[in-house]
Amino acid sequence: MRQLTCTAPGSVEWLEVPEPVLQEPTDVLVRPIAVARCEIDPFLVLAGPTRAGAFALGHEAVAEVVSTGDSIDLETGDLVLPSFQLSCGTCPQCRRGNSAVCGRYPTLSDYGMEPLSGIEYGGMLSDLVRVPHADTMLTPLPAGVDPVTAASVPDNVLDGYRAVAPHLAARPGADVLIACHGTPSIGLYAAQAAVACGAGSVTLASAEATVLGLAEHIGVTPHRTDFARRAPRRWEIVVDCGVEPDGLHWAIRVTEPEGVLHCVSSYVTGDVALPLLRLYTLGIELHIGRAHSAALLPEVTALVADGRLRPELVTTRVVDWEDAPTHFTEPTVKLVVVRSDSRPPLER
Ligand SMILES: [Zn+2]
Ligand SMILES: [Zn+2]
Repeated sequence: MRQLTCTAPGSVEWLEVPEPVLQEPTDVLVRPIAVARCEIDPFLVLAGPTRAGAFALGHEAVAEVVSTGDSIDLETGDLVLPSFQLSCGTCPQCRRGNSAVCGRYPTLSDYGMEPLSGIEYGGMLSDLVRVPHADTMLTPLPAGVDPVTAASVPDNVLDGYRAVAPHLAARPGADVLIACHGTPSIGLYAAQAAVACGAGSVTLASAEATVLGLAEHIGVTPHRTDFARRAPRRWEIVVDCGVEPDGLHWAIRVTEPEGVLHCVSSYVTGDVALPLLRLYTLGIELHIGRAHSAALLPEVTALVADGRLRPELVTTRVVDWEDAPTHFTEPTVKLVVVRSDSRPPLER
């Protein structure tokens, strides 16, 4: 089968690789039909392969079921959203909803990210992917939802959602600021989710004209900043989203006393100093950590199905499956790769 593969720093190509096979009664083989580029993907490609010499790409997808193990109640052709993280659904961490840190798998066991875990689970830009624990890792795509719309739900959409939803549940009607200094689609999805969860107001701060334009497009207030100058006010809930330590420090400065700062960034380039005295003195609640894909997929998929989250408004580029190697690293906010031979988009 063909697999979009990173073969060297900056190099992406289709390679022929062996097909995965069913191994357990709880496995499903899926054929991805729409795959969104995650914010981490360009960084992974730029860094290139580590130990294995090449790695499979893609981890945000809508896929169709091709074959199932005996204990799985899905039909061939069913459309599903696979969790991008491998998780069993039954260990103590999974039972607590912490599916990103499933005890059955080594840390960072994800599709399309072999350099992070050292284990190749395959990638969604492939003809076939093996999904274990399919009863917990697969969420059915509701009827009427366009696969291109939903492709990013397994990671970046639910990542944005979890950064605001619990905080707005605890602080109904709070004003929300998204400090977006990189990884823009997550920030835009977080802004959409804040609106859907009843924020009093939603502001998205960025230095990028394109991102500010998209903020307006999704109906939130754009705030242009270089993340150095003083902000006009503070916010009760702030999401730090991006790659710049200066952006994080600005986000800390604009969080109200006793407010919440939720950081969805990983700052992979190195340790970042934190002003703990300020955080302590002002009682700022700092949250950081990965999203739990399998645990959140049903909830977030339902919000997309009823139109409360509209990821399609953030999609800036849709390209044909065949052209993935050419476009996979192009600079656009949200890229989705779709098979032209898949079923046509359904009516919403
Ligand atoms: Zn991702
Ligand atoms: Zn588990």
